[in-house]
Amino acid sequence: MSKKPAYGKPQRLKFPAEEAANKWLGYAFDAYYRADVGVAKGIEQAERQGRKLACAKGCSSCCKSHTTIPIFPLEMLGLYWYVSKIMPADARNRLKAQLASHVPGNPCPFLLEGVCSVHPMRPLACRHFNVFDQVCAEGEDAFHTRREDVLTPIKYHQDAAYAAMLPFHGFTTPAQQQVAMQHRYIQQQAQVLQEMDWAHLAARIDE
Ligand code: SF4
Ligand code: SF4
Repeated sequence: MSKKPAYGKPQRLKFPAEEAANKWLGYAFDAYYRADVGVAKGIEQAERQGRKLACAKGCSSCCKSHTTIPIFPLEMLGLYWYVSKIMPADARNRLKAQLASHVPGNPCPFLLEGVCSVHPMRPLACRHFNVFDQVCAEGEDAFHTRREDVLTPIKYHQDAAYAAMLPFHGFTTPAQQQVAMQHRYIQQQAQVLQEMDWAHLAARIDE
């Protein structure tokens, strides 16, 4: 969704001290890195076929028009962490009012003045949604209006991102992870971002 700079070489997020103190953060960073690698590869393949990525920083109508963005438990935790500990204080204060007044079903509350305020930790669904050739019209969900212009994530990389989240749920051995992937364990944990109680996060900001 909105807010993507032109795709460069993906970089794993780097917060070494935080990661050392919170092992789960590494799982989230791995998942996002694996997803970003897959997205970059998918875009590169499409561009070789003459497509041009329409998404760019500041383009954000998708963040308002999409109403059922999936979010996984590790991603929720990641957003709490990012907003509480990493986001600059002035942005955090501006975001707090949006979170506090969020009503389930409203658009994503993390869009701040047309830009994703949690861009480094935006969910997999946001990372995976990319549109080619034509910027979305206000209110358009290109997945429904022109599916052929929407990037289909490369399954290998998408699965690798899900697999990176498994240790957070206690699946640590290759055998356990294989079974969990077969049963789509991560996908089954999805909730809808817009339906979450974000007022709770606003309250945590004050603590
Ligand atoms: S082109 Fe569409 S999907 Fe891409 S950032 Fe803009 S509004 Fe979002
Ligand atoms: S987290 Fe919200 S603001 Fe950020 S990209 Fe996703 S939908 Fe847009």
